[in-house]
Amino acid sequence: MYEKTQAQLLKDKLFLSRKNGRLISDDAVLSAADEFCEGYKAYLDNAKTEREAVKAAIEIAEKAGFSEYVQGKEYKAGDRYYINNRGKALALVNVGIESADKGTRITAAHIDSPRLDLKPNPLYEELELALFKTHYYGGIRKYQWPTVPLALHGVFAKTDGSVVEVNIGEDEGDPCFVVNDLLPHLATEQAKRVLAEAIKGEELNILVGSHPFKDDDISERVKLNVLKILNEKYGITEADFLSAELECVPAVKACDIGFDRSMIGAYGQDDRVCAYPALMAAVDTKMPTKSLITILADKEEIGSDGNTGLNSAFLKYVVYDLATMQGVDCTVALRASKCLSADVNAATDPTFQDVMERRNAAFLNYGVVITKYTGSHGKSSTNDASAEYVGEIRAMLDNAGIVWQTGELGRVDLGGGGTVAKYVANLGVDVVDLGVPVLSMHAPFETTAKFDVFMAYKTMSEFAK
Ligand code: MN
Ligand code: MN
Repeated sequence: MYEKTQAQLLKDKLFLSRKNGRLISDDAVLSAADEFCEGYKAYLDNAKTEREAVKAAIEIAEKAGFSEYVQGKEYKAGDRYYINNRGKALALVNVGIESADKGTRITAAHIDSPRLDLKPNPLYEELELALFKTHYYGGIRKYQWPTVPLALHGVFAKTDGSVVEVNIGEDEGDPCFVVNDLLPHLATEQAKRVLAEAIKGEELNILVGSHPFKDDDISERVKLNVLKILNEKYGITEADFLSAELECVPAVKACDIGFDRSMIGAYGQDDRVCAYPALMAAVDTKMPTKSLITILADKEEIGSDGNTGLNSAFLKYVVYDLATMQGVDCTVALRASKCLSADVNAATDPTFQDVMERRNAAFLNYGVVITKYTGSHGKSSTNDASAEYVGEIRAMLDNAGIVWQTGELGRVDLGGGGTVAKYVANLGVDVVDLGVPVLSMHAPFETTAKFDVFMAYKTMSEFAK
Protein backbone atom coordinates (compact mmCIF):
# COMPACT_ATOMS: atom_id res chain seq x y z
CA MET A 1 0.00 0.00 0.00
CA TYR A 2 1.28 3.42 -0.93
CA GLU A 3 0.77 6.37 1.39
CA LYS A 4 -1.92 8.80 0.28
CA THR A 5 -0.72 12.37 -0.24
CA GLN A 6 -2.17 15.28 1.69
CA ALA A 7 -4.08 16.37 -1.41
CA GLN A 8 -5.44 12.88 -1.96
CA LEU A 9 -6.68 12.65 1.61
CA LEU A 10 -8.29 16.07 1.33
CA LYS A 11 -9.92 15.11 -1.94
CA ASP A 12 -11.28 11.90 -0.41
CA LYS A 13 -12.78 13.98 2.35
CA LEU A 14 -14.24 16.81 0.30
CA PHE A 15 -15.22 15.46 -3.10
CA LEU A 16 -18.48 13.75 -3.89
CA SER A 17 -17.56 10.25 -4.86
CA ARG A 18 -19.67 7.71 -6.72
CA LYS A 19 -18.51 4.19 -7.38
CA ASN A 20 -19.88 1.25 -9.31
CA GLY A 21 -21.97 -0.68 -6.80
CA ARG A 22 -20.82 -4.06 -8.05
CA LEU A 23 -17.22 -2.99 -7.53
CA ILE A 24 -17.64 -1.95 -3.91
CA SER A 25 -20.13 -4.60 -2.76
CA ASP A 26 -19.17 -7.99 -1.43
CA ASP A 27 -20.31 -11.24 -3.00
CA ALA A 28 -23.01 -11.83 -0.40
CA VAL A 29 -24.79 -8.63 -1.50
CA LEU A 30 -24.44 -9.48 -5.16
CA SER A 31 -25.84 -12.97 -4.73
CA ALA A 32 -28.68 -11.61 -2.59
CA ALA A 33 -29.42 -9.27 -5.50
CA ASP A 34 -29.44 -12.19 -7.94
CA GLU A 35 -31.80 -14.12 -5.71
CA PHE A 36 -34.15 -11.17 -5.22
CA CYS A 37 -34.34 -10.67 -8.98
CA GLU A 38 -35.53 -14.25 -9.56
CA GLY A 39 -38.73 -13.27 -7.74
CA TYR A 40 -38.82 -10.02 -9.67
CA LYS A 41 -38.60 -11.77 -13.04
CA ALA A 42 -41.43 -14.13 -12.08
CA TYR A 43 -43.55 -11.13 -11.06
CA LEU A 44 -42.82 -9.42 -14.39
CA ASP A 45 -44.06 -12.46 -16.30
CA ASN A 46 -47.22 -12.76 -14.19
CA ALA A 47 -48.03 -9.06 -14.14
CA LYS A 48 -47.90 -7.51 -17.58
CA THR A 49 -50.93 -5.28 -17.06
CA GLU A 50 -52.16 -3.25 -14.09
CA ARG A 51 -54.94 -5.78 -13.45
CA GLU A 52 -52.51 -8.70 -13.45
CA ALA A 53 -50.05 -6.71 -11.33
CA VAL A 54 -52.75 -6.17 -8.69
CA LYS A 55 -53.77 -9.82 -8.78
CA ALA A 56 -50.19 -11.08 -8.50
CA ALA A 57 -49.47 -8.59 -5.70
CA ILE A 58 -52.53 -9.71 -3.72
CA GLU A 59 -51.47 -13.33 -4.10
CA ILE A 60 -48.04 -12.54 -2.66
CA ALA A 61 -49.51 -10.28 0.05
CA GLU A 62 -52.13 -12.79 1.21
CA LYS A 63 -49.45 -15.45 1.63
CA ALA A 64 -47.71 -12.94 3.88
CA GLY A 65 -50.76 -12.38 6.05
CA PHE A 66 -52.41 -9.39 4.40
CA SER A 67 -56.18 -9.58 4.14
CA GLU A 68 -58.77 -7.39 2.47
CA TYR A 69 -59.62 -4.23 4.42
CA VAL A 70 -62.84 -4.32 6.40
CA GLN A 71 -64.37 -0.89 6.97
CA GLY A 72 -64.90 -0.22 10.67
CA LYS A 73 -62.62 -3.03 11.88
CA GLU A 74 -60.04 -2.12 14.52
CA TYR A 75 -56.53 -2.85 13.28
CA LYS A 76 -53.62 -2.76 15.71
CA ALA A 77 -49.86 -2.47 15.35
CA GLY A 78 -48.45 -5.28 13.23
CA ASP A 79 -51.73 -5.89 11.42
CA ARG A 80 -51.66 -5.78 7.65
CA TYR A 81 -54.41 -5.21 5.13
CA TYR A 82 -54.92 -4.20 1.53
CA ILE A 83 -57.43 -2.08 -0.34
CA ASN A 84 -58.12 -3.20 -3.90
CA ASN A 85 -59.19 -0.25 -6.05
CA ARG A 86 -61.27 -1.76 -8.88
CA GLY A 87 -58.69 -4.46 -9.58
CA LYS A 88 -56.35 -1.89 -11.12
CA ALA A 89 -54.69 -0.17 -8.19
CA LEU A 90 -53.75 -1.45 -4.76
CA ALA A 91 -52.92 -0.04 -1.34
CA LEU A 92 -51.16 -2.22 1.21
CA VAL A 93 -51.10 -1.06 4.82
CA ASN A 94 -48.75 -2.29 7.53
CA VAL A 95 -50.17 -0.76 10.71
CA GLY A 96 -47.37 0.80 12.73
CA ILE A 97 -46.65 1.16 16.44
CA GLU A 98 -47.26 4.92 16.41
CA SER A 99 -50.64 6.29 15.47
CA ALA A 100 -51.08 8.20 12.23
CA ASP A 101 -50.89 11.68 13.78
CA LYS A 102 -47.12 11.03 13.97
CA GLY A 103 -47.25 10.49 10.21
CA THR A 104 -47.18 7.53 7.89
CA ARG A 105 -44.57 6.23 5.45
CA ILE A 106 -45.88 6.04 1.90
CA THR A 107 -44.16 4.23 -0.95
CA ALA A 108 -45.92 4.85 -4.26
CA ALA A 109 -45.03 3.02 -7.46
CA HIS A 110 -47.12 2.49 -10.60
CA ILE A 111 -48.09 -0.72 -12.33
CA ASP A 112 -49.37 0.49 -15.69
CA SER A 113 -46.92 0.53 -18.61
CA PRO A 114 -46.93 1.86 -22.16
CA ARG A 115 -48.67 -0.49 -24.58
CA LEU A 116 -51.20 -0.74 -27.42
CA ASP A 117 -54.84 -0.63 -26.29
CA LEU A 118 -57.59 -1.86 -28.59
CA LYS A 119 -60.03 0.79 -29.77
CA PRO A 120 -63.67 0.32 -28.65
CA ASN A 121 -64.57 -0.97 -32.11
CA PRO A 122 -61.31 -2.65 -33.10
CA LEU A 123 -62.00 -5.58 -35.40
CA TYR A 124 -62.07 -5.15 -39.18
CA GLU A 125 -61.22 -7.01 -42.35
CA GLU A 126 -59.11 -5.68 -45.21
CA LEU A 127 -57.73 -7.71 -48.15
CA GLU A 128 -59.04 -10.86 -46.50
CA LEU A 129 -57.00 -10.28 -43.37
CA ALA A 130 -58.50 -9.51 -39.97
CA LEU A 131 -56.94 -6.72 -37.90
CA PHE A 132 -57.43 -4.75 -34.69
CA LYS A 133 -57.35 -0.95 -34.58
CA THR A 134 -55.36 0.30 -31.58
CA HIS A 135 -54.89 3.50 -29.63
CA TYR A 136 -51.53 3.53 -27.94
CA TYR A 137 -51.34 4.08 -24.17
CA GLY A 138 -48.55 6.20 -22.70
CA GLY A 139 -45.41 7.57 -24.24
CA ILE A 140 -44.32 5.00 -26.78
CA ARG A 141 -41.93 5.43 -29.68
CA LYS A 142 -44.31 4.07 -32.27
CA TYR A 143 -41.65 2.74 -34.62
CA GLN A 144 -40.49 0.28 -31.93
CA TRP A 145 -43.74 -1.70 -31.85
CA PRO A 146 -44.08 -3.32 -35.31
CA THR A 147 -42.67 -6.82 -35.87
CA VAL A 148 -42.67 -7.60 -32.15
CA PRO A 149 -44.76 -10.64 -31.10
CA LEU A 150 -47.68 -9.34 -29.07
CA ALA A 151 -49.94 -10.93 -26.48
CA LEU A 152 -53.49 -9.83 -25.74
CA HIS A 153 -54.46 -9.24 -22.10
CA GLY A 154 -57.55 -7.78 -20.51
CA VAL A 155 -61.24 -8.19 -19.91
CA PHE A 156 -64.59 -8.13 -21.64
CA ALA A 157 -67.39 -6.81 -19.40
CA LYS A 158 -70.61 -8.28 -20.76
CA THR A 159 -74.09 -6.83 -20.40
CA ASP A 160 -75.11 -9.67 -18.06
CA GLY A 161 -72.60 -8.30 -15.56
CA SER A 162 -70.04 -11.04 -16.06
CA VAL A 163 -66.41 -10.20 -16.73
CA VAL A 164 -64.36 -12.50 -18.95
CA GLU A 165 -60.60 -12.47 -18.66
CA VAL A 166 -58.38 -12.69 -21.71
CA ASN A 167 -54.74 -13.73 -21.78
CA ILE A 168 -53.49 -15.06 -25.13
CA GLY A 169 -49.94 -15.20 -26.34
CA GLU A 170 -48.03 -15.87 -23.14
CA ASP A 171 -48.18 -19.64 -22.76
CA GLU A 172 -46.10 -22.09 -24.74
CA GLY A 173 -48.02 -22.92 -27.90
CA ASP A 174 -50.31 -19.85 -27.71
CA PRO A 175 -50.78 -17.82 -30.88
CA CYS A 176 -49.38 -14.27 -30.87
CA PHE A 177 -50.32 -11.13 -32.77
CA VAL A 178 -48.23 -8.61 -34.66
CA VAL A 179 -48.12 -5.13 -36.14
CA ASN A 180 -46.48 -5.41 -39.55
CA ASP A 181 -44.05 -3.01 -41.20
CA LEU A 182 -42.78 -2.35 -44.70
CA LEU A 183 -39.92 -4.30 -46.17
CA PRO A 184 -36.80 -2.15 -46.79
CA HIS A 185 -37.16 -2.73 -50.53
CA LEU A 186 -40.40 -0.74 -50.53
CA ALA A 187 -39.68 1.68 -47.71
CA THR A 188 -38.00 4.42 -49.75
CA GLU A 189 -40.83 6.87 -49.09
CA GLN A 190 -41.40 5.78 -45.51
CA ALA A 191 -37.68 6.14 -44.82
CA LYS A 192 -37.95 9.86 -45.54
CA ARG A 193 -40.41 10.35 -42.69
CA VAL A 194 -39.06 11.84 -39.46
CA LEU A 195 -38.55 9.15 -36.82
CA ALA A 196 -41.49 10.25 -34.67
CA GLU A 197 -43.75 9.53 -37.63
CA ALA A 198 -41.94 6.52 -39.07
CA ILE A 199 -44.98 4.57 -37.93
CA LYS A 200 -48.09 6.66 -37.38
CA GLY A 201 -50.71 6.02 -34.72
CA GLU A 202 -53.27 4.77 -37.24
CA GLU A 203 -50.68 2.39 -38.68
CA LEU A 204 -50.39 0.43 -35.45
CA ASN A 205 -52.89 -2.15 -36.65
CA ILE A 206 -52.57 -5.66 -35.29
CA LEU A 207 -52.90 -8.73 -37.50
CA VAL A 208 -55.25 -11.28 -35.89
CA GLY A 209 -56.45 -13.67 -38.60
CA SER A 210 -56.48 -14.80 -42.21
CA HIS A 211 -58.72 -17.88 -42.36
CA PRO A 212 -62.09 -17.24 -44.05
CA PHE A 213 -65.34 -18.74 -42.81
CA LYS A 214 -66.27 -21.12 -45.64
CA ASP A 215 -69.24 -19.56 -47.41
CA ASP A 216 -69.35 -18.12 -50.92
CA ASP A 217 -72.02 -15.47 -50.52
CA ILE A 218 -71.06 -13.57 -47.42
CA SER A 219 -68.66 -10.64 -47.05
CA GLU A 220 -65.95 -10.28 -44.34
CA ARG A 221 -65.48 -14.00 -43.92
CA VAL A 222 -62.14 -13.72 -42.11
CA LYS A 223 -63.58 -11.29 -39.57
CA LEU A 224 -66.58 -13.60 -39.17
CA ASN A 225 -64.32 -16.54 -38.46
CA VAL A 226 -62.36 -14.55 -35.85
CA LEU A 227 -65.61 -13.57 -34.12
CA LYS A 228 -66.75 -17.19 -34.24
CA ILE A 229 -63.56 -18.26 -32.44
CA LEU A 230 -63.95 -15.48 -29.86
CA ASN A 231 -67.62 -16.34 -29.36
CA GLU A 232 -66.81 -19.99 -28.75
CA LYS A 233 -63.96 -19.19 -26.38
CA TYR A 234 -65.33 -16.18 -24.46
CA GLY A 235 -69.04 -16.08 -25.30
CA ILE A 236 -68.68 -12.57 -26.71
CA THR A 237 -70.01 -10.79 -29.78
CA GLU A 238 -68.56 -7.77 -31.58
CA ALA A 239 -70.59 -5.40 -29.37
CA ASP A 240 -68.75 -6.68 -26.28
CA PHE A 241 -65.56 -4.97 -27.46
CA LEU A 242 -67.29 -1.70 -26.57
CA SER A 243 -67.12 -2.55 -22.87
CA ALA A 244 -63.71 -4.15 -22.81
CA GLU A 245 -60.21 -3.22 -21.73
CA LEU A 246 -57.88 -5.13 -24.00
CA GLU A 247 -54.18 -4.40 -23.99
CA CYS A 248 -51.54 -5.65 -26.40
CA VAL A 249 -48.17 -6.10 -24.77
CA PRO A 250 -44.93 -7.73 -25.98
CA ALA A 251 -45.17 -11.53 -25.75
CA VAL A 252 -41.67 -11.85 -24.35
CA LYS A 253 -40.58 -13.19 -21.00
CA ALA A 254 -38.19 -11.53 -18.61
CA CYS A 255 -34.64 -12.79 -18.97
CA ASP A 256 -31.10 -12.13 -17.84
CA ILE A 257 -29.02 -9.84 -20.03
CA GLY A 258 -25.28 -10.20 -20.52
CA PHE A 259 -22.72 -13.02 -20.35
CA ASP A 260 -22.40 -12.17 -16.66
CA ARG A 261 -26.21 -12.18 -16.12
CA SER A 262 -25.91 -8.89 -14.26
CA MET A 263 -28.92 -7.26 -15.92
CA ILE A 264 -32.57 -7.97 -16.67
CA GLY A 265 -34.44 -7.45 -19.93
CA ALA A 266 -38.24 -7.39 -19.91
CA TYR A 267 -41.36 -5.52 -20.89
CA GLY A 268 -42.95 -3.16 -18.34
CA GLN A 269 -40.05 -2.62 -15.97
CA ASP A 270 -41.18 1.01 -15.73
CA ASP A 271 -42.43 0.83 -13.07
CA ARG A 272 -42.71 -2.76 -11.88
CA VAL A 273 -39.00 -2.50 -11.10
CA CYS A 274 -40.07 -0.22 -8.23
CA ALA A 275 -43.50 -1.77 -7.59
CA TYR A 276 -42.06 -5.22 -6.85
CA PRO A 277 -39.38 -4.00 -4.38
CA ALA A 278 -42.06 -1.83 -2.70
CA LEU A 279 -44.39 -4.83 -2.43
CA MET A 280 -41.63 -7.04 -1.03
CA ALA A 281 -40.62 -4.36 1.47
CA ALA A 282 -44.23 -4.32 2.72
CA VAL A 283 -44.28 -8.12 2.89
CA ASP A 284 -40.98 -8.25 4.80
CA THR A 285 -41.73 -5.41 7.24
CA LYS A 286 -43.12 -6.94 10.42
CA MET A 287 -43.66 -4.17 12.96
CA PRO A 288 -43.02 -0.71 11.50
CA THR A 289 -42.75 2.30 13.81
CA LYS A 290 -45.01 4.38 11.57
CA SER A 291 -47.74 2.84 9.49
CA LEU A 292 -46.47 1.88 6.07
CA ILE A 293 -48.71 2.52 3.07
CA THR A 294 -47.60 0.92 -0.18
CA ILE A 295 -49.41 2.15 -3.26
CA LEU A 296 -49.37 0.36 -6.59
CA ALA A 297 -51.04 2.92 -8.84
CA ASP A 298 -52.62 2.78 -12.25
CA LYS A 299 -52.73 5.47 -14.97
CA GLU A 300 -49.33 7.08 -14.27
CA GLU A 301 -48.28 6.72 -17.89
CA ILE A 302 -51.21 8.85 -19.05
CA GLY A 303 -50.99 11.52 -16.37
CA SER A 304 -52.45 9.78 -13.28
CA ASP A 305 -56.02 10.87 -14.04
CA GLY A 306 -58.95 8.52 -13.47
CA ASN A 307 -60.14 6.92 -10.24
CA THR A 308 -57.33 4.36 -10.17
CA GLY A 309 -54.63 6.99 -10.72
CA LEU A 310 -52.93 9.02 -8.00
CA ASN A 311 -54.49 12.29 -9.12
CA SER A 312 -57.66 10.86 -7.55
CA ALA A 313 -58.62 10.81 -3.86
CA PHE A 314 -57.63 7.12 -3.56
CA LEU A 315 -54.50 7.63 -1.45
CA LYS A 316 -56.08 10.39 0.61
CA TYR A 317 -58.91 8.08 1.67
CA VAL A 318 -56.52 5.25 2.50
CA VAL A 319 -54.88 7.64 4.97
CA TYR A 320 -58.30 8.95 6.03
CA ASP A 321 -59.56 5.46 6.91
CA LEU A 322 -56.42 4.65 8.88
CA ALA A 323 -56.46 7.98 10.72
CA THR A 324 -60.19 7.78 11.48
CA MET A 325 -59.79 4.28 12.88
CA GLN A 326 -57.10 5.61 15.22
CA GLY A 327 -59.16 8.66 16.18
CA VAL A 328 -56.74 10.97 14.43
CA ASP A 329 -57.39 13.90 12.12
CA CYS A 330 -56.54 12.93 8.52
CA THR A 331 -55.03 16.34 7.74
CA VAL A 332 -52.68 15.97 10.70
CA ALA A 333 -51.68 12.51 9.48
CA LEU A 334 -51.05 13.72 5.92
CA ARG A 335 -49.03 16.74 7.01
CA ALA A 336 -46.74 14.51 9.08
CA SER A 337 -46.37 11.84 6.38
CA LYS A 338 -43.42 11.14 4.13
CA CYS A 339 -43.34 9.50 0.76
CA LEU A 340 -41.00 7.88 -1.67
CA SER A 341 -42.40 8.28 -5.16
CA ALA A 342 -40.84 5.07 -6.40
CA ASP A 343 -40.31 5.49 -10.10
CA VAL A 344 -37.58 4.93 -12.62
CA ASN A 345 -35.11 7.36 -14.13
CA ALA A 346 -33.14 7.11 -17.36
CA ALA A 347 -29.82 5.29 -17.21
CA THR A 348 -27.04 6.73 -19.35
CA ASP A 349 -26.65 4.74 -22.56
CA PRO A 350 -23.05 4.50 -23.88
CA THR A 351 -24.43 4.88 -27.40
CA PHE A 352 -26.51 7.99 -26.68
CA GLN A 353 -24.49 9.85 -24.06
CA ASP A 354 -25.12 13.30 -25.48
CA VAL A 355 -28.72 13.45 -24.23
CA MET A 356 -27.36 13.42 -20.69
CA GLU A 357 -25.43 15.91 -18.64
CA ARG A 358 -22.89 13.53 -17.22
CA ARG A 359 -22.44 15.08 -13.78
CA ASN A 360 -26.13 14.75 -13.07
CA ALA A 361 -26.99 11.56 -14.90
CA ALA A 362 -27.74 8.10 -13.56
CA PHE A 363 -25.77 4.97 -14.46
CA LEU A 364 -26.49 1.26 -14.33
CA ASN A 365 -25.05 -0.43 -11.24
CA TYR A 366 -24.58 2.84 -9.37
CA GLY A 367 -27.55 2.06 -7.16
CA VAL A 368 -30.90 3.57 -6.50
CA VAL A 369 -31.48 7.03 -8.03
CA ILE A 370 -32.75 10.06 -6.13
CA THR A 371 -34.48 12.40 -8.57
CA LYS A 372 -34.99 15.70 -6.78
CA TYR A 373 -37.20 17.06 -9.52
CA THR A 374 -38.60 15.96 -12.86
CA GLY A 375 -40.66 18.27 -15.09
CA SER A 376 -39.32 20.14 -18.08
CA HIS A 377 -38.25 23.59 -19.29
CA GLY A 378 -37.36 25.29 -16.05
CA LYS A 379 -38.69 22.61 -13.68
CA SER A 380 -42.22 23.15 -14.90
CA SER A 381 -44.85 20.83 -13.49
CA THR A 382 -42.78 18.99 -10.91
CA ASN A 383 -42.54 18.26 -7.23
CA ASP A 384 -39.14 19.74 -6.42
CA ALA A 385 -38.30 17.93 -3.20
CA SER A 386 -37.10 20.13 -0.35
CA ALA A 387 -33.44 20.19 0.67
CA GLU A 388 -34.47 19.08 4.15
CA TYR A 389 -36.31 16.00 2.95
CA VAL A 390 -33.61 15.01 0.44
CA GLY A 391 -31.10 15.44 3.28
CA GLU A 392 -33.11 13.10 5.46
CA ILE A 393 -33.31 10.42 2.75
CA ARG A 394 -29.59 10.83 2.01
CA ALA A 395 -28.76 10.23 5.65
CA MET A 396 -31.05 7.19 5.74
CA LEU A 397 -29.34 5.67 2.70
CA ASP A 398 -25.82 6.35 3.94
CA ASN A 399 -26.53 5.02 7.42
CA ALA A 400 -27.95 1.81 5.95
CA GLY A 401 -24.99 1.35 3.59
CA ILE A 402 -27.21 1.54 0.53
CA VAL A 403 -25.52 2.44 -2.76
CA TRP A 404 -27.28 5.40 -4.34
CA GLN A 405 -26.84 8.13 -6.91
CA THR A 406 -28.68 11.16 -8.17
CA GLY A 407 -30.14 11.61 -11.61
CA GLU A 408 -31.76 14.23 -13.74
CA LEU A 409 -33.93 13.23 -16.69
CA GLY A 410 -31.52 14.29 -19.42
CA ARG A 411 -30.02 17.61 -20.44
CA VAL A 412 -31.73 20.88 -19.58
CA ASP A 413 -34.48 21.78 -22.09
CA LEU A 414 -34.02 18.53 -24.02
CA GLY A 415 -37.10 16.77 -22.81
CA GLY A 416 -38.66 15.96 -19.50
CA GLY A 417 -41.17 13.84 -17.71
CA GLY A 418 -43.30 13.43 -14.63
CA THR A 419 -44.21 10.95 -11.93
CA VAL A 420 -46.87 10.59 -9.25
CA ALA A 421 -44.73 12.70 -6.88
CA LYS A 422 -46.58 15.95 -7.49
CA TYR A 423 -49.97 14.39 -6.77
CA VAL A 424 -48.76 13.03 -3.45
CA ALA A 425 -47.14 16.40 -2.72
CA ASN A 426 -50.51 18.08 -3.36
CA LEU A 427 -51.81 16.24 -0.28
CA GLY A 428 -49.25 18.09 1.84
CA VAL A 429 -46.92 15.10 2.15
CA ASP A 430 -43.12 15.35 1.89
CA VAL A 431 -42.11 13.42 -1.22
CA VAL A 432 -39.10 12.70 -3.38
CA ASP A 433 -38.68 10.54 -6.46
CA LEU A 434 -36.46 7.55 -6.00
CA GLY A 435 -36.09 4.47 -8.16
CA VAL A 436 -34.11 2.32 -10.53
CA PRO A 437 -32.23 3.50 -13.64
CA VAL A 438 -33.53 1.98 -16.88
CA LEU A 439 -32.16 1.68 -20.41
CA SER A 440 -34.62 1.88 -23.33
CA MET A 441 -37.38 3.13 -21.02
CA HIS A 442 -40.89 2.73 -22.52
CA ALA A 443 -39.62 0.38 -25.24
CA PRO A 444 -41.19 -3.07 -25.68
CA PHE A 445 -38.10 -4.47 -23.95
CA GLU A 446 -36.40 -2.45 -21.21
CA THR A 447 -33.11 -3.10 -19.42
CA THR A 448 -32.22 -2.70 -15.75
CA ALA A 449 -29.35 -3.87 -13.54
CA LYS A 450 -29.98 -6.45 -10.82
CA PHE A 451 -27.82 -4.57 -8.34
CA ASP A 452 -29.96 -1.44 -8.68
CA VAL A 453 -33.20 -3.42 -8.28
CA PHE A 454 -31.88 -4.86 -5.02
CA MET A 455 -30.81 -1.43 -3.78
CA ALA A 456 -34.39 -0.24 -4.42
CA TYR A 457 -35.66 -3.07 -2.24
CA LYS A 458 -33.13 -2.23 0.49
CA THR A 459 -34.14 1.43 0.35
CA MET A 460 -37.85 0.72 0.64
CA SER A 461 -37.26 -1.74 3.48
CA GLU A 462 -35.19 0.86 5.34
CA PHE A 463 -37.82 3.55 4.71
CA ALA A 464 -40.47 1.19 6.08
CA LYS A 465 -38.72 0.67 9.45
MN1 MN B 1 -42.67 5.37 -14.41
MN1 MN C 1 -43.02 5.78 -17.67
